[in-house]
Amino acid sequence: MKAAVVHDFTQPLVIEERPVPDPAPHQVRVRIEASGLCHTDIHAARGDWPVKPNPPFVPGHEGVGIVEAAGAEVRHVRVGERVAIPWLADACGRCDHCVSGWETLCTRQHNSGYSVDGAYAEYALAHGDYVVPVPDGIDPLDAAPLSCAGVTTYKALKVSGAGPGTRVLISGIGGLGHLALQYARIAGAETIAVDVTDDKLALARELGADHVLDARVHDVAAEVQKLGGAHAAIALAVSNASFQAAYAALRRGGSLVLVALPAEGKLELPVFDTVLNGTKVIGSIVGTREDLAEVFQLHALGRTRVIRETRHLEDVNTCFDEVLTGKVSARLVFDLR
Ligand code: NAD
Ligand code: ZN
Ligand code: ZN
Repeated sequence: MKAAVVHDFTQPLVIEERPVPDPAPHQVRVRIEASGLCHTDIHAARGDWPVKPNPPFVPGHEGVGIVEAAGAEVRHVRVGERVAIPWLADACGRCDHCVSGWETLCTRQHNSGYSVDGAYAEYALAHGDYVVPVPDGIDPLDAAPLSCAGVTTYKALKVSGAGPGTRVLISGIGGLGHLALQYARIAGAETIAVDVTDDKLALARELGADHVLDARVHDVAAEVQKLGGAHAAIALAVSNASFQAAYAALRRGGSLVLVALPAEGKLELPVFDTVLNGTKVIGSIVGTREDLAEVFQLHALGRTRVIRETRHLEDVNTCFDEVLTGKVSARLVFDLR
């Protein structure tokens, strides 16, 4: 099978022929149809974060495909079923986080395309209990971005407290942000979209943002404060300056939800203002299997639109450049069918 492999954090990915893998008793083998390119894959391939993957590895955690073989212990999915392989490859299933619906905080988790090989390949192995069924009628090319960009922002909106009567700032209208904006609207919030490219600002308008700010020319915090300040700000841009602006855009009692993970990510908080304003700062990491099932259900109901362009896996390195230079409409998806 064909796979895109990271051998070195400073070198391009290499397209390789690898043997088709056989599932262990708890695993399924998935024939990948669609595999989304999340900005996290770029961080992974470059070793951007304090906890690094071990090369060689295959990135990709927005994998969608058909279960082709299942180990003897797999109970919850069948051969022939379409499933998603998300970031949470598996977790211990028994710790207090796992049993309280916070499996994404399990300290014994593995991560697809990071600590275990992911979906930048024609086939991938996955834990039978942690793949998420994709309902009939959802295009696999849509299901792929929903498996990380969708579930991550859906969860971020949930923890932000966004709802009717709230004003929500979405900072960064990329792969994650274009879906965050839609979930904020579904939640009933007034929405403010921020980006730094003309195409993304136009996309935000097209998706119905109530206010659109260009961080290149606007003082984002000042403009949002003129509206009364944001009840919640969702930080999705790979830029430390954007975190500071999102913090400063909050109203009293507001929540800053940190999602983007820039290399050397830092946020300086004034303690006095944070205390007196009752500001909440929340880190949010992907979402659970249940969150992803809800994301798929919303999409099947026609409530969300995935903006994506397809690419060939062979072009993975130029695709990374396209994302880094902001040339992508929202999400790139490798079509492996
Ligand atoms: P992306 O590149 O598709 O989108 C980033 C967007 O931010 C782009 O539209 C870009 O134009 C915009 N932007 C850049 N600078 C900006 C600024 N100063 N102000 C406003 N907008 C700006 O990336 P993505 O795939 O959406 O991922 C975003 C980040 O989220 C990455 O760091 C990724 O690793 C992280 N991520 C986190 C989680 C999580 O669970 N916490 C999950 C997935 C991705
Ligand atoms: Zn991701
Ligand atoms: Zn656990």
